[in-house]
Amino acid sequence: NEQISILDIPFENTDMASFEGRLQQRINDHANTFVVTANPEIVMYAREHRLYKQLLTSADFVVADGIGIVLGAKLLKQPLAERITGYDLFTQLLSWGSDNLKSAYFVGAKTEVINQLKQVVHEKYPGLTIAGTHNGYFGDDRNIVADIERTHPDMVFVATGYPKQEEFIAKNRHAADALWMGLGGSFDVLTG
Ligand code: UDP
Repeated sequence: NEQISILDIPFENTDMASFEGRLQQRINDHANTFVVTANPEIVMYAREHRLYKQLLTSADFVVADGIGIVLGAKLLKQPLAERITGYDLFTQLLSWGSDNLKSAYFVGAKTEVINQLKQVVHEKYPGLTIAGTHNGYFGDDRNIVADIERTHPDMVFVATGYPKQEEFIAKNRHAADALWMGLGGSFDVLTG
């Protein structure tokens, strides 16, 4: 599969439908997968933080979340097929996960948001099992990681904003052979 390098970050040149298909296949296969949905802020931050950049290049897929990346690619005469937003991927995977009786773990946002999220998922995606949840304001992550290990979800959604979410995933993805994805403010949007 084709990748396009933008400021040294290898972006997956794919469209939403085929990317979804690939992720679904990897979830079914219990492949350990780390997806970064990178917006221009993330790309700029990575320019100034070498370790964060290394961590992005260690991901299985970096996709272009944000029209700025798509426009940048076009200016560099290396057009990307499509913008792939974290939020669209999130809701699509919840819906597919519900239809296919998958399970998901949610880390991020404030306690009241995560409580609302549980309700929304329960109502809108009834086939999806909530393996567990934790708010995004924690110091020590050991309890969360142990819980993820114990519940072995199919998907782990981390919405604590960058760079924290990608750092959390890179450090802890060994805990479950799941799809791990950083999602910025997506829990707030879904419950908002
Ligand atoms: N957040 C969190 N823990 C933190 C800081 C932020 O869980 O220590 C949450 C916050 O409640 C919000 C999301 O992370 O739900 C940040 O959303 P934003 O759109 O700012 O994400 P970014 O664009 O910074 O990745």
